[in-house]
Amino acid sequence: MKSTLKYSFFGMALLLLSSSASIAQKTQTLQPSFYTLDATGKITGYNFPALPYAYNALQPAIDSLTVSIHYDKHHRGYYTKFLAAAKENNLEGTSLEDIFKQISKYPDAVRNNAGGLYNHTLYWENMAPARGSKPTGELAAAIDLEFGSFDKFREQFSNAAKSKFGSGWAWLIIDNQGKLAVTSTSNQDNPLMDVAEKKGLPLLALDVWEHAYYLKYQNKRPDYVEAFWSLVNWDEVSKRYMLSKRFGK
Ligand code: MN
Repeated sequence: MKSTLKYSFFGMALLLLSSSASIAQKTQTLQPSFYTLDATGKITGYNFPALPYAYNALQPAIDSLTVSIHYDKHHRGYYTKFLAAAKENNLEGTSLEDIFKQISKYPDAVRNNAGGLYNHTLYWENMAPARGSKPTGELAAAIDLEFGSFDKFREQFSNAAKSKFGSGWAWLIIDNQGKLAVTSTSNQDNPLMDVAEKKGLPLLALDVWEHAYYLKYQNKRPDYVEAFWSLVNWDEVSKRYMLSKRFGK
């Protein structure tokens, strides 16, 4: 019997990262839908994750046309090219997380498109229609502990995003010691890759490629970065933080 289970990419990341948690614990992290798995948990394919809201849901911070082109052309383009690159490199059935761990061994087509697929999935999931909220609970306490205050964290993250030269990403990660850190990567690299300067599990991602903001903000990347704060879905970031702590790294 072949059953098709759908897992969220983050739930799956935790599933793959964790070795000691029980199956019952692990299945609590499951959500729709990044990998397609067979009944034994083997990856049989990769889904193109649905956008969790309408194209116009992030207005006015991010306009509909930008979201539609970004999701339906750029993100989907990485997905399609990743499928081809995975096939060419005999990686079908390998998790993105396992690919990232040895990304330096693979051609650029794998690095760029696996990164693009993963990074954008996180980016869409960690935004939601304007909330203007702040983190609460254990995540808020960890941010205070690591950065001094939420405002200091926000400043550090914003600076990483604004000062990234060329195209890339800003990240909040949890590192192998369970500590929060802010970092940035170029192109479609991410902190799960063996080439990353600072490694860890991404909790919050901000795309600072020009395609993410140019229609509305043109050269004013700092205005886009500031607008981003009104969209952060802290419930989602917090959930990732709690799961990463629960399953360890
Ligand atoms: Mn992008």
